[in-house]
Amino acid sequence: MPTIFKSMKKLVKPKLKSFLIFLSLFFTLLIPIFSNSIIIQTKAADAEQVDYIFSNANIITVDEANPLEEAIAIKDGKIHAIGSSEEILAKYYTDEGNTLHSNDHTIMPGLIDGHTHLMWSANYGGFETLQGAQSIAMAFGYTTLNEKGADGWDRDIQPLLDIEAAGELRIRLNVFPIYNLAFLDENNESINVERWYPDRGPILDPGRKFRVPGIKIYSDGAYGNRGLPAMSVPYTPEQLEAFMGTSVYGDLYMNQSTLNAVVKTIHDKGFSCAFHSMGDRSTETVLNAIEYALDGETNDNYRHQIEHNSFIREDLIAQAQSLNTIHSVRGYFPTYWQVEYAELFNETVLEWYVNRYSLPSEGLHAYLETDFTWEVYDDDDLSGSRNIKPFLHMWGLVTRKSIDHNGTIHTPLPWLAEHTISVEQALKMMTLEGAYAVKQEDYLGSLEAGKFADLIVISDDPLTINHDEIKDIEVYLTMINGTIEYQNPAHSIFSELGNTAVFGPSVGLVMISMIFGFLLILGMTVLKKKSK
Ligand SMILES: [Zn+2]
Repeated sequence: MPTIFKSMKKLVKPKLKSFLIFLSLFFTLLIPIFSNSIIIQTKAADAEQVDYIFSNANIITVDEANPLEEAIAIKDGKIHAIGSSEEILAKYYTDEGNTLHSNDHTIMPGLIDGHTHLMWSANYGGFETLQGAQSIAMAFGYTTLNEKGADGWDRDIQPLLDIEAAGELRIRLNVFPIYNLAFLDENNESINVERWYPDRGPILDPGRKFRVPGIKIYSDGAYGNRGLPAMSVPYTPEQLEAFMGTSVYGDLYMNQSTLNAVVKTIHDKGFSCAFHSMGDRSTETVLNAIEYALDGETNDNYRHQIEHNSFIREDLIAQAQSLNTIHSVRGYFPTYWQVEYAELFNETVLEWYVNRYSLPSEGLHAYLETDFTWEVYDDDDLSGSRNIKPFLHMWGLVTRKSIDHNGTIHTPLPWLAEHTISVEQALKMMTLEGAYAVKQEDYLGSLEAGKFADLIVISDDPLTINHDEIKDIEVYLTMINGTIEYQNPAHSIFSELGNTAVFGPSVGLVMISMIFGFLLILGMTVLKKKSK
């Protein structure tokens, strides 16, 4: 008989043996349930208290140096540390209930919409209160909105400053007030609006929720009553009819010398310029104006950015590369119209039309735009390209598929499928690139120690699931500045009652506790046998 069992035999009275077998079975079942607290007990004696810990998780950091991690500690609104579960749980602990062990969920940086009208259209349209609008955005996983448009100071800026002062601004807002209106006057002249910027510079404080990093400038039309995108090739009579326009080369809102002067003035005040520019002739004018304002300096210091980029010629991509300009790309394309587009545009223009999807691979900064506005909000209709749903846009970027009004999925034709965007590129476009566009890349957009704790917990890992499942990813939790601002009611992670959160204890711990229980049973059995 092995020595250990000899000594156990001395200690254990025969009548207790069956009770011990029961106990060992009981603990075999119980230990996995309490594996959560067992992990917590691995903390070192000098461990530091933090506000939240997510461990045993699948963390997509969007930090190229360290793309995947297991655990993250949050303290005082910032990412305190990120690393392996073992390391984080040894060094840090939280109040009971604020440590989540989850191998069922994916954590990624909070989403940044690089071009939206969510707050602006809520304010002018009366669709939602500003407080209500931000709550809906946070439920979709957005933690920062780059608002590409706002009218006069009193109407659009002051109300946002007021809710910030009242502590009611929960989402981060980067507002770009407009220089001119999105349509021309009866003489086809640009209509400029209130010019408050000479007196007030940009608001760039990285710690503030409300910032004004730049000014929005409309450079060309956008179909219908806004005139047409300014093109270097003439519109055909069929195109003019289809797009409800009259000008054969589209509508450029300002000529080169006017735009140069406008951009230089705004640039010199320290604002970034964000240009609405769809047609190739407009983008050419915009790039020239940026080049004029930069006067040999790099755009890295100024972050001038071009919205929409609907038709881009190859030579413009080369000019953009030399200037290091930033570009927005709509995630979701109305693929169900691809046959009509292919009939309306010749092969060259079709190539310009899909060139926007090549921008990330061409080494240019490119961020996601949803161009969302409440006028088009319909939660059930997934057909609109200005949809609010971020993972529908990600699915669109990666697959270029879309869903029509009847719910039918359309797959891209070869012309539309050109220029692949990877899931990794799409993730960056929806996070770090949106932060870069507003000079926040050192504070937001990736999960790195020292950055603000803006993150989301989502239902699936976009990097590993089938691309077609990306559109169905759900947001379970949205954290901004270390505060949990949203929890999905069907998948609450942190209980309000302060119960310790246990989601899927790690497989390793279950195995260890089962082996422990098995050894106990084996020991008892051997003991029983030998004692006979
Ligand atoms: Zn827009």
